[in-house]
Amino acid sequence: IVRPVGAGDSTGRLFLVRDITRAAEREEELRRTASDAEKAWHSLEERQEQILLANEGLEKRVSEFARFNRELRVIDEMKSNFMANVSHELQTPLVSIKGYTEMILKGRLGPLTDEQERGLKVALRNVDRLIGLIESLLSFARSEKDAEPLRVEVFSLRSAVDEVAELLREKAAKRHVTVKVQFPSGDLTIRADRNRIVQVFINLVSNAIKYNREGGRVEIEATRGSRAMARVEVRDTGQGIPREALEKVFERFYRGASESGPGTGLGLSITRDILRLHGCQIRVDSEPGKGSVFSFTLPLETRGRSERAPRLAGSEREES
Ligand code: ADP
Repeated sequence: IVRPVGAGDSTGRLFLVRDITRAAEREEELRRTASDAEKAWHSLEERQEQILLANEGLEKRVSEFARFNRELRVIDEMKSNFMANVSHELQTPLVSIKGYTEMILKGRLGPLTDEQERGLKVALRNVDRLIGLIESLLSFARSEKDAEPLRVEVFSLRSAVDEVAELLREKAAKRHVTVKVQFPSGDLTIRADRNRIVQVFINLVSNAIKYNREGGRVEIEATRGSRAMARVEVRDTGQGIPREALEKVFERFYRGASESGPGTGLGLSITRDILRLHGCQIRVDSEPGKGSVFSFTLPLETRGRSERAPRLAGSEREES
């Protein structure tokens, strides 16, 4: 029923009801977020402070390391100079001892008994061994002191390897070791410092003979590899290298625990350095008791082909 409402009279009450539960929740949520943000801000500030502190510490460390590095360089240079001087000083008298020993052996200073001759021959062999050791120390000291630039030329790898095989023929024959050279894809033309690559082969092949068994085999195999590189393997049937020594053999002055014969522990480190200078790598795999395989790459001559020649690390001088 609808009744008219009289004027001036209170005719009713208006109740306005709004549900603010959600708004209150929102407000609470906002407050929480604000306080979380504040906390996060504080912790960020703390972190920033920590980072600044750590940074200061790091900067100090870096400058300490730089100082150490400078000192080490000076010491390293002193060591190289010392090694070069000592080796040179040792070499001079040895050359004179060798000269006189040879002269006596030839009978120029009077006749010799058989026993004297035998004794002198042993002395001469040992003098030669010492001279060889000192030569490798000297060449190492020189290579460290003022690394000579690469003298890059284009050459036949086959001829370089044959040259090394010939050079080491006598050494191999003494141990009845056969040295086989294989180029299954034909001769390869290399672009590198020939003398230094010959040095690499001398080091690897003489090790393969030295650490072989009597009557063992050495195989040198070179093939066309990928990306303008030749792949070379020097394999032997020798004592092998224990797993834990595989990484160490390329370190300077490292010699196998049981090595007592002539050697300086420098051959493989020089070998790796030479290959690195050419942008090449070397690795070794070995099965103790069966033999070792040294594999490395060499830059192929690619001029006139579509492939680009590999970049040589360090300085180079062309000779073509
Ligand atoms: P060195 O022969 O003068 O000792 P290297 O640097 O040429 O120095 O070799 C380091 C060590 O690596 C050797 O003392 C030897 O123990 C080990 N080694 C190198 N080549 C071979 C190999 N073909 N077979 C077994 N061991 C090897």
